[in-house]
Amino acid sequence: MSDLVFPSVYSITKDGFCKAFPLVPAYRFSQLRNLRMKGYDDMELYRNLGKYAIGFLEKSLSFGLFSSSVADAAVGSEASKIIVRLHDGFEVEAVCIKPVGASSATVCLSSQVGCNCKCRFCSTASISFVRNLDDYEIIEQFYHLKRLFGDIGNVVFMGMGEPLLNLDSVIAAARFFSDEEGISVRNITISTSGISKGILQLAARFPDVKLTFSLVCADDAKRRGLMPISVANPLSEVKKALLKYQSRNRRRITLAYPLFSGVNDSKADAMAIKSFAAGLICHVNLIPFNEGGRGGFKRPDPAGIKRFEKYLSNMNMPYSVRYSKGGEVNAACGELALRRKKAHADGNDAGKG
Ligand code: SF4
Repeated sequence: MSDLVFPSVYSITKDGFCKAFPLVPAYRFSQLRNLRMKGYDDMELYRNLGKYAIGFLEKSLSFGLFSSSVADAAVGSEASKIIVRLHDGFEVEAVCIKPVGASSATVCLSSQVGCNCKCRFCSTASISFVRNLDDYEIIEQFYHLKRLFGDIGNVVFMGMGEPLLNLDSVIAAARFFSDEEGISVRNITISTSGISKGILQLAARFPDVKLTFSLVCADDAKRRGLMPISVANPLSEVKKALLKYQSRNRRRITLAYPLFSGVNDSKADAMAIKSFAAGLICHVNLIPFNEGGRGGFKRPDPAGIKRFEKYLSNMNMPYSVRYSKGGEVNAACGELALRRKKAHADGNDAGKG
């Protein structure tokens, strides 16, 4: 038997399986694949692979079938969030959104432990960047959620971390969901704060996936104050990259626009969006901000939200309004992880991270 070691059952490819265990017939890999698709985390359930293949699994998995575990969960009526503890004790968040009556869920997956981008309104920005996740660590979040909440129809890379700063793992995980789980690439979205080089790489390597750009503010100077990452990624460069991405697939881009009272909700802000959007096939997703996060930002009152909608509709700018479903479970990016981290520091919680 080979001494090849795999950190997780989700890190085993067909090639890796055949190389590690050449005497096991290849059809055993198909069986293994079918079992892991079910998210089984109990070795007993893999017994019908036969004793050689089971021997391979027992000897070659360094952390067990899953390298991670669910450390905490907050379950709401439409949105639920889990904290996933990684093999080294660090923790990331994953979210499942399933509106009442929906047959399948949308999941939001993390790509990094912490984040270096330091967006002023984001709770994850308070958690220092530690490391990128491996592809199997992203895939495992999916299966933890599937086991807990059922079928998944859409995957969004928008949990903790900036996906385009961990592109290799994100693309590998996205391909896995598409190839192994049969999730159409049209139902896989990468959400970025606007890393120009990353968008260009995505356009070259995996252009079929959907893209959401967190515009937040279309005025460069104001945006730099809200999102330090935009110093190195001015809107002119991001737009060039988005145009390149769109030239590869003609797919509509979503411009995510969290709405903050008195910050990015003026008529001039709406006009700046219109000007940024010129030449792009895009649509604005207005997200009235959930208060209570980092930075003391406030949500506009209902009249303020309506006013901003009017600015956009008067300019024929396609838009929709999305109210976050996650308030009851701290579902904004990084909130639950940060709460656990603080509780841990105060000595109220045994969790790591
Ligand atoms: S919004 Fe995204 S990119 Fe910005 S700090 Fe939070 S996790 Fe990082």
